[in-house]
Amino acid sequence: MPGSARRQAQSVISLQYSLPTLACFKHHGAALCAASARNMSSIVLEGLSRQFGTARPAVDNVNLTIQAGSFTVLLGPSGCGKSTTLRMIAGLEMPTAGRILMNGRDVTALSPRERHIAMVFQSYALFPHLSVRENILFGLKVRKEPREHYAERLARTARVLGLEDLLDRKPSQLSGGQQQRVALGRAVISEASVCLMDEPLSNLDAQLRQEMRREIRALQQSLGITMVYVTHDQTEAMSMADRVVIMNGGRIEQHDSPDALYASPATEFAARFIGTPAMNLIKLEPGHRRIAGCNSAPLGPTPEGASRLGIRPEHIELKKGDNSLDALVESIEYFGADSIVVCRLGSNSGVAVRTKGHFQALPGSAVQLSWRAEHERFFDAKGAALSAPRTSLLSGRARPCDPQ
Ligand code: ATP
Repeated sequence: MPGSARRQAQSVISLQYSLPTLACFKHHGAALCAASARNMSSIVLEGLSRQFGTARPAVDNVNLTIQAGSFTVLLGPSGCGKSTTLRMIAGLEMPTAGRILMNGRDVTALSPRERHIAMVFQSYALFPHLSVRENILFGLKVRKEPREHYAERLARTARVLGLEDLLDRKPSQLSGGQQQRVALGRAVISEASVCLMDEPLSNLDAQLRQEMRREIRALQQSLGITMVYVTHDQTEAMSMADRVVIMNGGRIEQHDSPDALYASPATEFAARFIGTPAMNLIKLEPGHRRIAGCNSAPLGPTPEGASRLGIRPEHIELKKGDNSLDALVESIEYFGADSIVVCRLGSNSGVAVRTKGHFQALPGSAVQLSWRAEHERFFDAKGAALSAPRTSLLSGRARPCDPQ
């Protein structure tokens, strides 16, 4: 990993809140500790909006309930309003409309300090001239918390995060992962019941990101913290979250568990945002219940108004069967365990198929595609999901498709 990335500073604005779970974690173990966390906080956003000047609202009438002790990820492309939402929860940005409730209490007008939350942001640097110890204790000193508790809280925090041997070092003498742990330490020592993180891993290399993802998730679960985490990385969201909130243009596109998001995206936007490669969205001939450009494709029941068929790459099989469709290979990407075979199906270019091992074929080769009805999803012309049809598009009269 490049030195610059290792030196990437992370930081915390942390605000004290009494949460006795750190001691619990030490003495009783993670599961019991999480279960017994007494001050877990729920967060409710009611009609929350933020408009800057006359521009379109950055956050537009967001309604969201975040369960106490859950890990919620705000996910979406750049500019969709994730950070603005997080900053409003933190109290760093005032909403132009709506309310924020924490544990049922309206905190909309409260300062960040009065909200009792911890924050970890990508853009906040550790103080380079302060040791790890001083960096972690910084928030407690600023808040003038009783000095007699410093040693005990520091010891607990350092133990939980494996920083005991690094307390005298300066940030420049730490790896990127260690610096990240110091940033987390500043949040953990505050004993806040809510922790907000904005892209905290974006400057770490891929392997370290993976390790830190696991550490953050384990820490959140063991301490029973209510975590709200902003990222544009769907892998981060899917691997860490209890609930994922997909945002688009300041609005919530879908709020669901990772499983539900993956299996049943509510919109084409959500379908495209989750999965690598994303769900295939195959154009249908308007009103004809067949794949666009597939002259002789088998007809079958589809929901009224279906404009596209959504199907995940791993749900398409490259095999000939009664209901298979003819397609042409456009390209193949080999990833070791599997290959992504990109095909042309009728007039649909770029239909991705995941298949085990190293699939070998020349571009232009003919292949047959088939899938099971249960994996089909349908979307209308506006991109909203339609309820599933009774039978598969492929389960009607089986005839080959002539790619055009
Ligand atoms: P990114 O992933 O790039 O950080 P984001 O989803 O977090 O994006 P926000 O930072 O919340 O997006 O920004 C949402 C919109 O609000 C963007 O169009 C941005 O330009 C605008 N915006 C954010 N802060 C301000 C500000 N202080 N003044 C004016 N516009 C702002």
